[in-house]
Amino acid sequence: MNNRYLKEEFEKNIPDRIKTALKFCAEAADEKALPIFLIGGIVRDIIISKKNFDVDITVQGNAVEFAYFLQDKYPGICRVKETHDCFGTAKILFDINSESIALDLASTRKEYYPYSSSLPVIEETGCNLYEDVIRRDFTINSMALSLNKDSFYLLVDYLGGYDDLKKGILEILHSESFIDDPTRIIRGLKFSVRFGYNFGDKTRRLMIECLNSGRFDNLGGERVKLELKQAFNINRAGCLSKFINENIYRLVDTEIPVPENIHDLAHITQNTVKDYCNFLHNPDKTWLIYMGVLLAGEAQRKIGYIAEKMYLSGQEENILQGAAALCKKQEILDKSQTRFEVYEFFERSETESILVFFIKNTNLKDKVDLYLNELKNIKISIDGNTLIKIGLNPGPVFGEILKKVLKAKINKEITSPDQEMEFAKNLINPNDRLDKNEL
Ligand code: ATP
Ligand code: MG
Repeated sequence: MNNRYLKEEFEKNIPDRIKTALKFCAEAADEKALPIFLIGGIVRDIIISKKNFDVDITVQGNAVEFAYFLQDKYPGICRVKETHDCFGTAKILFDINSESIALDLASTRKEYYPYSSSLPVIEETGCNLYEDVIRRDFTINSMALSLNKDSFYLLVDYLGGYDDLKKGILEILHSESFIDDPTRIIRGLKFSVRFGYNFGDKTRRLMIECLNSGRFDNLGGERVKLELKQAFNINRAGCLSKFINENIYRLVDTEIPVPENIHDLAHITQNTVKDYCNFLHNPDKTWLIYMGVLLAGEAQRKIGYIAEKMYLSGQEENILQGAAALCKKQEILDKSQTRFEVYEFFERSETESILVFFIKNTNLKDKVDLYLNELKNIKISIDGNTLIKIGLNPGPVFGEILKKVLKAKINKEITSPDQEMEFAKNLINPNDRLDKNEL
């Protein structure tokens, strides 16, 4: 391993406030004679000049004890936010120029997988950096950058990550890596989409073998969800194409029907997310649009099964179920004549569900746009209190009247608040009046 120092890259790509926090850590580590490194994604991103504020630090020793040492050494500047003794990790916060800098500290650790797709078991903490590095996913994520004074900026690259990064190749670290943890396949998908990198030949072959083996019964759905979310939230057509064409979808469910025109579908999805971003208030849910597109033809039960397996929240499942339900009754929208029929079709659907419907039914764009741009926002100015004021007894009829007023407004039969009131009055059955004499 030839010595490569990343001084220039570090100085250029790490913001000053983070540099200051790192220098505090390095000083403390030197005092304790602890080897300390930046590790993983941040080292990769320093080399390729990508912004990354996820600062992962590993110490060859006990990171929890080190975190408390930092807190004691820099009172008022550094505090321990949380610790996980069983993992040997801690989160610390530095207060630098009134800004809070979060750093994740981890003890170096050696791990093993008792069976395929299991969670790793920690065998040793405070081990050699090398042991910590070889438990990682790809060579490009297995580099460390020394922070100790006598070797500051030194890149520790046991596995050739630097060269792979420069070549844009994703290589796993050993032939059992995907079997140990198949979510690495989805992580690879994320990196290939984010950076435009490709799997190396051997890694690709091992991925195919793993996906064909079907050995992922023990795979935790919440881990799959976490990785899928990160991969699809990037919003790239290539993510969906690869997910299907490379059979990665099998990690979610082996029986997802493969759409025929996946290339087109993937591009329509990417463009839809982009074009309608103003309607999407939470970009974190983008991945559900992609999942929705894949599951739109599935039965409610099947979607429920997948949602349970992946630990989806109620709202996340609603988006998928809602999208499939809309797609199944597509004919109703196709035949709709009035603005209110369009409104009723989409009423109460999540925007993500509506966009899945649109992706599968682009011929109905005008109606989707009409709903999202206009109908969705139409509100009436009268409410239950207004109806009581004009003498109606509270009851189920309230909802009916208000809906009829809304319908008239959406269909542009009435426009002003006065007209709404007049319209409501005309609808009222005299028997529902509180005081008939007032009529
Ligand atoms: P991102 O930029 O998306 O955060 P990252 O590489 O920093 O990417 P993290 O999920 O933050 O990824 O994980 C930090 C590091 O932990 C990775 O760089 C990798 O070294 C290691 N790692 C994460 N997940 C796994 C995994 N499933 N198997 C092995 N190593 C992993
Ligand atoms: Mg990260």
